[in-house]
Amino acid sequence: MSDHIVDWEQVKLEASALLSRYIQVNTVNPPGNELSGAFFLRSVLLKEGFEVEITESVTGRGNLVSGLKGTERMLPLYLLHHIDVVPVEEDKWQYPPFSGLIQDGEIWGRGSLDCKSLGVMELMALIILKRQGFKPKRDVVLLATADEEAGGKWGIEWMIRNHPDLFRGGAVINEGGGPGLTTRKGKLYFCQTAEKGVCWLRLKFKGVPGHASIPHGHNCVVQMAQVIENISRFRPPLQVSEVVERLVRRIAPEQVIMDPAEFLLLLSPDDHDRVLEKIPGENFRNLLSALLHNTFVPTVVKGGSKSNVIPSECYCEIDCRMLPGNRPEDILRTIKGCAGGIEGLEIEIIDSSVPSASPLDHELYHLLSRAMKKYDPQAELVPYMSTGASDSRYFREMGMAAYGIQTDITPGALERMHGHNERISTESLLFGIQVFHEAVKEFCG
Ligand SMILES: [Zn+2]
Repeated sequence: MSDHIVDWEQVKLEASALLSRYIQVNTVNPPGNELSGAFFLRSVLLKEGFEVEITESVTGRGNLVSGLKGTERMLPLYLLHHIDVVPVEEDKWQYPPFSGLIQDGEIWGRGSLDCKSLGVMELMALIILKRQGFKPKRDVVLLATADEEAGGKWGIEWMIRNHPDLFRGGAVINEGGGPGLTTRKGKLYFCQTAEKGVCWLRLKFKGVPGHASIPHGHNCVVQMAQVIENISRFRPPLQVSEVVERLVRRIAPEQVIMDPAEFLLLLSPDDHDRVLEKIPGENFRNLLSALLHNTFVPTVVKGGSKSNVIPSECYCEIDCRMLPGNRPEDILRTIKGCAGGIEGLEIEIIDSSVPSASPLDHELYHLLSRAMKKYDPQAELVPYMSTGASDSRYFREMGMAAYGIQTDITPGALERMHGHNERISTESLLFGIQVFHEAVKEFCG
């Protein structure tokens, strides 16, 4: 490969084969087994002459660090992805989920979108730069972590605690870009610049036990059902964050559902409900709603052991997601309100993280945006807040800027990420490599 010209067709073939092999390494979490994934990445990196370090947080849970050393003392750029993937229902797939099958321009398998493809894009971009003899001014740190899908305890959280000197400020490229939007005029790629916070609650109800043949008024199962009903009926107020306002304003002229001026009324407290109801696609409507409200979703219900016994206690869990400006205490207050004055009710926060955001005016963001345009003149990067949590929040909490990129914006891609028949087009894979190659070169050159 010469200094300037890259044979992108060849890169596409090479990267597709790499992703196929990476998918074949089963890293379903639990148990994770990310060490095998890390060994695979190391074998590729060593062949290219990179230094690689693998650390095990617990047996079998591998985290990998590699990259290129910078020539100057500048803050690093981190290329982050997670090695673990979510479980599969194998019988529901058209092709075996760990086959890594390449067919009709698509690579199939668990992790093909979330997020082994991102790992291969970052890896391949770095490999090309190294082959070109690129000497970055700042460190480029390739970071592959365990356990993201279960919250990151044995992955990024463990790394930050046990290898704090690795995290020295700077900027991060990670997963988490949104579904995107293909319009008549072009393609909007959503860049995750913010994410909602998480607050998982457990509500424990206490009642009076007894024989179910003689009903009484202190059945905790009934109380729990009533509270769940109240929570699902609760309509949280509209909250417009800076990122979502920009997103809605950018989408307004592109969407073909309604008049742009009416679409913008989604941001107005007086009109929001009425306009939201008119959004025809359920997925899009639900997404818009989740981006503009705190959410409270009952997910786990446990209680009772026998049909004829009224239990003395039971519990449910509520998955709450909060917008910027909210704290777990605010969520707790809302849920208490829904529960009314139920006696003996205990509410416990099982896990929580605060919402996080990165600056919208950042050099890396602009470079990513420009790199996209270079390889697809119709592409535009639009800031986005993800409703789910990613490892980016750990970096933002350390004061670093993190940006989540998603290069496959074909309809349905987001649903397939944790669903069946996950796959990525080889074109999207190549596009990601081109974008990262360009952005890393510009940001670090
Ligand atoms: Zn992921």
